[in-house]
Amino acid sequence: MVKKQLLKIVEEFGSPIYVYDAEKIVSQYNRLTDAFKDVKQLKINYAVKALSNISILKLFKTLGSGIDTVSIQEVQLGLAAGFLPEQIIFTPNGVSLDEIEEATKLGVQINIDNLSILEQFGTKHPQVPVCIRINPHVMAGGNSNISVGHIDSKFGISIHQIPHLLRIVENTKMTINGIHMHTGSDILDIDVFLYASEILFETAKQFKNLEFVDFGSGFKVPYKPGDIETNIEELGKKLSEKFNAFCKEYGKDLTLAFEPGKFLVSESGSFLTKVNAVKQTTSTVFAQVDSGFNHLIRPMFYGSHHEIVNISNPNGRERFYTVVGYICETDTFGNNRRINEINEGDILCFKNAGAYCFSMSSNYNSRFRPAEVLWYNKKAHLIRKRETFDDIIKNQIDIDFTSKKDKVLVG
Ligand SMILES: *Cc1c(COP(=O)(O)O)cnc(C)c1O
Repeated sequence: MVKKQLLKIVEEFGSPIYVYDAEKIVSQYNRLTDAFKDVKQLKINYAVKALSNISILKLFKTLGSGIDTVSIQEVQLGLAAGFLPEQIIFTPNGVSLDEIEEATKLGVQINIDNLSILEQFGTKHPQVPVCIRINPHVMAGGNSNISVGHIDSKFGISIHQIPHLLRIVENTKMTINGIHMHTGSDILDIDVFLYASEILFETAKQFKNLEFVDFGSGFKVPYKPGDIETNIEELGKKLSEKFNAFCKEYGKDLTLAFEPGKFLVSESGSFLTKVNAVKQTTSTVFAQVDSGFNHLIRPMFYGSHHEIVNISNPNGRERFYTVVGYICETDTFGNNRRINEINEGDILCFKNAGAYCFSMSSNYNSRFRPAEVLWYNKKAHLIRKRETFDDIIKNQIDIDFTSKKDKVLVG
């Protein structure tokens, strides 16, 4: 999208605002499916938690994608978007057996990552085929909070527990129809991924009724110029070869599944904010915008880098700014960034704002969450209204502290 279109969207719908470019989502989806064109049956399940607006889900539906969900609410959202139960995989962690049974009633594919739950589920519902999430203990990812394959991780069933797992399957007579791993975000080294895939294939051979092998996600996208990204084309070529060889050995054409979030939507998103004030201190020039980590938490939470561009003054002289939010505690979006000269009222654009941005936003400081716009067919479609004070207050219950009864209770 060009700057002029983004500025027009702010004019029309206000700031701060999230804007997603549908074309970019479609091209990332096609890039991924192209990379694996040598696999007979490929299934992409978009990870809803990255960006869960119903219009985004419907866009994925038009592409033939399924969805990966981590809560019963995401399952319900997927059904509301028109996905069939069989297009939905439920991959929760640490949820109750009740929630898994609720998802079972809705008819979606269940993925279990805990032996205790597997045993209880298999005992009660031996007729429901389930996928198992394996932890291959391969370290992937650059951030300790998003690396989920290490030995102390709460995710997955350890490969060292496979004998126990097999005993549960045998005792309950349940069917394992899929095997899954998700080693964490930000895979940079394809060899590490391929190594993990070999562990998964080895494990898969021990299950006779598989229909799919799911490699989760963790594809890295570039966040700044010069950033390394996962080479999807190379991964596609090498993993497809390994997968096809595995299917031959297994004696059946299985489905190869992925569940990317970030790869599909991160780069489609722009977060637009207005500069409330430029504040010069003794050492720093701060650009203070009309947003904060309540709307975009990744820089403060993960130390993530989001490029910041002054789209109001793209040809202005470059200067150094620290871009901060309005939340009343440390709230830094970017330190010491080289940005075209910023004036009060300018619109700053944060890039890579598609994944884990709106979906992690909150009402902290009792602020409204932003509006969302989908740029589709050269038109801006509002896909979420900006919140109002009503949204802040609607579930709150205020007690009448002046009534006699309450006074007695307080003593
Ligand atoms: C979060 C998550 C994903 C998506 O990860 P990305 O890094 O956004 O691609 C996929 N699978 C599972 C089980 C997840 O929890």
